[in-house]
Amino acid sequence: MDTFIKCPNCSDEITEDSDFCPHCGTLFTEAGPVFCDLHPLESGAGVCIICRKLCCEACGAQVRGRYFCSAHRKVKVEQDWAEVFRSTEISDAELVKSVLESTGHKVQVQNFNSIGFIWDGGGDSPISRSNINKPAKVFVPIPEYLKAMEEIVDWKSSETTIDEAESEM
Ligand SMILES: [Zn+2]
Ligand SMILES: [Zn+2]
Ligand SMILES: [Zn+2]
Repeated sequence: MDTFIKCPNCSDEITEDSDFCPHCGTLFTEAGPVFCDLHPLESGAGVCIICRKLCCEACGAQVRGRYFCSAHRKVKVEQDWAEVFRSTEISDAELVKSVLESTGHKVQVQNFNSIGFIWDGGGDSPISRSNINKPAKVFVPIPEYLKAMEEIVDWKSSETTIDEAESEM
């Protein structure tokens, strides 16, 4: 049986023998010295919560309490969910959601009902106006982020017209 302890950085539950916290990427160095995956001479400073690469201070950074490699620093994360898609076109976001669901991902969405909300309220307040401009967002669990992004890229490339595909070459 695994014993659970609290991560000293984010207070989420982790197993006692974890080398790093999967929720925030904090490295527990009791296990001995570890080195950056990219820079083998530099000591590891944290683990990217998206791709689980071990980073040094030069190639990783903590953003709002969580550790990211330079490639994933811009990924938006809320709790244990990572944003894979956003668009002010709710129909686009709905398509992405159904693509991900059909490939077996857990999906959470935000702002899908902003239009309905505005008509329900019937008001023209600054709040409902700002809701119009809020992009619809699609989230998947953080460990599924890389796979889900591949799924979206595959889906987009299958939608690409021949003209666009040629101009990319
Ligand atoms: Zn943590
Ligand atoms: Zn990463
Ligand atoms: Zn490095």
